[in-house]
Amino acid sequence: MSQTTEWDLARANYKQLENVKTRSISFNKFELLVQFNPGRITSSAAKVDTKSIEARPCFLCEKNRPEQQQGLPFETGMTILVNPFPIFKKHLTIVADSHTDQRISGNISTMLALARELPEYHIFYNGPQCGASAPDHLHFQAGNKGFLPIEKDFSDGRACSQLRIKTGIEQWQWTGYFRGIITLKSTSDEKLISAFYAFYTRFADAQPERPEPMLNILASYCNGEWIIHIIPRKLHRPSQFFAEGDEKILLSPASVDMGGVIITPREEDFVKISKPDLTDIFSQVTFNDDELLPFIKRIL
Ligand SMILES: [Zn+2]
Repeated sequence: MSQTTEWDLARANYKQLENVKTRSISFNKFELLVQFNPGRITSSAAKVDTKSIEARPCFLCEKNRPEQQQGLPFETGMTILVNPFPIFKKHLTIVADSHTDQRISGNISTMLALARELPEYHIFYNGPQCGASAPDHLHFQAGNKGFLPIEKDFSDGRACSQLRIKTGIEQWQWTGYFRGIITLKSTSDEKLISAFYAFYTRFADAQPERPEPMLNILASYCNGEWIIHIIPRKLHRPSQFFAEGDEKILLSPASVDMGGVIITPREEDFVKISKPDLTDIFSQVTFNDDELLPFIKRIL
């Protein structure tokens, strides 16, 4: 898209991304990248309570979008836009044409279709209560492949192994990855959708008070096959987010962080965040290997 050269805001922010600072933190079986990205402060610190959401004009509705932001239609009812606050060198937001709540139920097939349509990208979904800064407007994001560590971590198999295989679909299990993930792999979108809902229904029973169970999802497509990583969540933001002074770390984890790129919009957090901080943050917001067990059985 020419948006990153013609649209002033996007051009400036993609240019700035070239100078973004990154450091890596090594764990036993994997590495995390920490990215200092001041442009993400609006999203990381976004107020997403009902009152704040109702009080603001929705920035994903076409009538409120910047005039210079232009989109491409996707199937019926979605539009592909350049994300003006990038984390990835190529970062898209795919938004519903109508103002409708952020829900994965009924929309997982759209997510898989997007992955197939955009095979150079990971498609990601942040639930309305765990990372979406517009919980009232259905959207996905897409970021170029070759950047999220989970991609390599899945293929090198140090933290991940095949758990079950049934005709046409595989389920993979992660151990010692500090964040519980359910991974499915198949050439059949129907089989993936059916396995997803088997998991979703059970997980929804565990979080009955929520509009939908808390989930981040990453999906990609390559050579006729989809890989989807489902990350169930216990909490939106860790205690460090709300702390004051030295204790504070402004980190609001969502799909990209779950994929292994930790976004810190404040430089002080980028500098000080440590391995124990990250271990603790993951333990607060995601399920550990044992806690995940009840949700991963019999979903194929
Ligand atoms: Zn809207």
